[in-house]
Amino acid sequence: AEEVGGGDKEVVREYFNNNGFDRWKKIYGDTDDVNKVQLDIRLGHSKTVENVMKMLTEEGSLKGVTVCDAGCGTGCLSIPLAKEGAIVSASDISASMVAEAQKQAQEELLKAKDDLAPTPVMPKFEVKDLESLDGKYDTVVCLDVMIHYPQSKADGMIAHLASLAENRLILSFAPKTFYYDLLKRIGELFPGPSKATRAYLHAEADVEKALQKAGWKIRKRGLIATQFYFAKLIEAVPA
Ligand code: SAM
Repeated sequence: AEEVGGGDKEVVREYFNNNGFDRWKKIYGDTDDVNKVQLDIRLGHSKTVENVMKMLTEEGSLKGVTVCDAGCGTGCLSIPLAKEGAIVSASDISASMVAEAQKQAQEELLKAKDDLAPTPVMPKFEVKDLESLDGKYDTVVCLDVMIHYPQSKADGMIAHLASLAENRLILSFAPKTFYYDLLKRIGELFPGPSKATRAYLHAEADVEKALQKAGWKIRKRGLIATQFYFAKLIEAVPA
């Protein structure tokens, strides 16, 4: 029932190359021109990134570890990963996002190169939807991307991402819980001017089922919640 005619992917690509790019670049940036809601989302999202960095670094150094950041956006995760010495493959369906991520990585990594140890390896950036990614990576991460797709599509995305990962798969998604469901419904009654895409919530049990089907099990779970930002964060490993 949730499938839309032309397919969500084209709508999402178009959005993140235009309005969505402007909106999210601002939210993920550090400028003052954000409203209260955007500021809250910025805070929530930065907590997600922090949590992921903690999950990954507490298991050992990232130096030389290959990481695929699928749907990298403006590089909020790719850049700190590179700073820890990871070999990052960053990709996104939106060419605008990839260009911005590349620009920010250049600014943050090349300029600071001499002060950073280990010397960061520049992430490899690519305009690609995650469904057509290939190769093998120690760790695959996909943050806040599934929110743009219904569960039927998310199942396939999870299976594909799992096939690229050797040791770890980290996903975040907006959890389908009663309270958040309600918030979202209220949001739909009063949509903000720049809310051009719809958001899909995912039940943790459905995500877990998709992982199990792919031969993976959940090892760690976390929940990041601010006033307007909710994300369930999970780390999965081969079962
Ligand atoms: N992961 C980044 C982060 O957490 O900072 C960005 C999150 S942003 C809400 C969602 C991103 O997913 C956008 O940059 C969008 O272009 C990208 N995206 C959406 N669908 C995608 C797909 N099928 N394949 C790859 N990227 C996709």
